[in-house]
Amino acid sequence: MIEKFNKVRQKFPVPKILNLIYPPTCGICGKLNEDFLCKRCEKILESEAVFGLDKYKNIKRKKERKENIKNNFNDKKYFNEHLYIFFYQGIIRRIILKYKFQEQSYLDKTFVNFLLKNENFFENIKKYDTIVPVPISRERLKIRGYNQSELIAKEIACNSNLRIETECIFKVKNIIEQSKLNKEERLKNVQGVYELFNKEKLYKKRILLVDDIYTTGSTVNECAKVLKNSKPKVIGVLTLAKD
Ligand SMILES: [Zn+2]
Repeated sequence: MIEKFNKVRQKFPVPKILNLIYPPTCGICGKLNEDFLCKRCEKILESEAVFGLDKYKNIKRKKERKENIKNNFNDKKYFNEHLYIFFYQGIIRRIILKYKFQEQSYLDKTFVNFLLKNENFFENIKKYDTIVPVPISRERLKIRGYNQSELIAKEIACNSNLRIETECIFKVKNIIEQSKLNKEERLKNVQGVYELFNKEKLYKKRILLVDDIYTTGSTVNECAKVLKNSKPKVIGVLTLAKD
């Protein structure tokens, strides 16, 4: 029952009084907790957290680029940096899979409340002004009932000055799940899948693109490539975990 209610809680703002009837619980162990993260589970997350930041510089030298293309090594990144909280392994992997596939949608509050506790990491997020979640297709949304990346983005926007934009990039094709494919297949699978709308909203913005897991990076890279057409100032990527 509580799980069902927490799912509804994501979609509609809940008056505080309802917290008395359906109290918030720790997203990981299910114990009653106002911050959606109990002390015990916070310790577990702390021991696993890496708060990583990878910077990407695109090759500007013509000769080097030509050589890479010749060797079929097109590693161009359309974003400048990648922020992540965890490596995608062990208990974190199990928690995220639960979040993604077992209707544990309220885990977004758990993750974001944990992220907020690391001030340095959060400072990096606040350098951006617009947060854009990686979209899922309409079909998938119907089945799952929520977009896990959008919930995280919303939660971050609620706790910062970042503005969330959910009307700018859409997934217009339903494709095979990336997790079922290898690196080359993933790259091909996402091509032409996303479309940009209302691009004036992102013009000269500092965009932070949010997804749950970063594996080969082909999903966020394809999104960033599409977002580039709105001429933003900069694009960064934030994921819960990096594989
Ligand atoms: Zn807990």
